[in-house]
Amino acid sequence: MHQVMSLSETITDRVRQVVGTEKVALHEPSFKGNEWAYVKECIDTGWVSSVGSYVDRFEHDLAEVTGAKHAVVVSNGTSGLQVALQLAGVGRDDEVIIPALSFVATANAVKHCGAQPHFADTDAATLGLSVPALADYFAAVIERRGGVSHNKHTGQRIAAIVPMHTFGHPVDMPALMELAGRHGIAVVEDAAESLGSLIEGRHTGTFGLCAMLSFNGNKIVTTGGGGAIITDDPQLAKRAKHLTTTAKQPHKWAFFHDEVAYNFRMPNLNAALGCAQLEQLDGFLKAKRELALRYAKAFSDVTHASLFMERPGTHANYWLQTLILDASVADQRDAVLTRTNAAGLMTRPVWELLTHLPMYRDCPSMEVPVAQDLARRIVNLPSSPQLVQDPA
Ligand SMILES: *Cc1c(COP(=O)(O)O)cnc(C)c1O
Repeated sequence: MHQVMSLSETITDRVRQVVGTEKVALHEPSFKGNEWAYVKECIDTGWVSSVGSYVDRFEHDLAEVTGAKHAVVVSNGTSGLQVALQLAGVGRDDEVIIPALSFVATANAVKHCGAQPHFADTDAATLGLSVPALADYFAAVIERRGGVSHNKHTGQRIAAIVPMHTFGHPVDMPALMELAGRHGIAVVEDAAESLGSLIEGRHTGTFGLCAMLSFNGNKIVTTGGGGAIITDDPQLAKRAKHLTTTAKQPHKWAFFHDEVAYNFRMPNLNAALGCAQLEQLDGFLKAKRELALRYAKAFSDVTHASLFMERPGTHANYWLQTLILDASVADQRDAVLTRTNAAGLMTRPVWELLTHLPMYRDCPSMEVPVAQDLARRIVNLPSSPQLVQDPA
């Protein structure tokens, strides 16, 4: 008698149809452009460290690609977000709204400013911050004092909102900007995962006051490790550069530093790698978007699991491909993870909710039923751009 395939067998089979028979990683960088030439040039010329032409060029190229007026590159995304929050005026004892469903760095950056994360729920349609849920919550929890929004339960100022564009799928930024504006709260975007993702043609990270990008080894474009702050505000950009480069006043030889600041510089070596990677962004995007279509097709007749696709009006970079299991089969997620990984297909669950981590368990939070539900049902699939050799 023919045995019916289990869900985990079916999913393993469909992933194999798309990625072939080899062992595959979740996300591997692809170095097929000028990486070697640019990095070699740094070594040949001795310009490997904290100044050099590739730092300037990478900042210029990032501004061009995102449409932001300014980009300041930094040592990693987490430090970039910390500084971006400081630029927005976030300080000790402020609260910052962040999604409960995010990578731990979003919350850590808030804490590094001396502020407190305040968790918000997720929108199942975007996988990002739910603007309708936040609007209702604000109506109940915000108290305006002297024109400033405070959490009426803790008495603390709500200084910023940090939307995070999960796996490259954009948050509904126009609606969020309207809500934030109404409450006089700054918006700083965690665009770590969304280089190349657009909303009505406009790049994620250019809606808020400023944004952070990450170039960690697993991101769509990598510098080995690194990040950037992007903004349209020239004063903020200047201040970002100052704060991330030890607050040294420019001078031919004198060492005069005018405030306590950071060494969050991106070395020229890393920027060189970034310049070469950024030249290939269009190809990476094409490959990832094609991979999404191939997965979507492979899963189209699978009941109880479907690929998460971009919302109308948005253009996602599909950084990590996202399979969502139906609620009725959420209890099979671990079997899916076990079987796919045993078969050499690297898959991963989404992050544990930040509200469940020991250091963030006691932070203020709204009810997060959607985040809680989604966290049980997401499986990220192999997503490297090189899995598509012949993007359409
Ligand atoms: C990658 C990432 C960051 C920053 O990571 P770094 O490794 O510090 O560059 C922050 N937030 C999210 C959501 C990320 O995915």
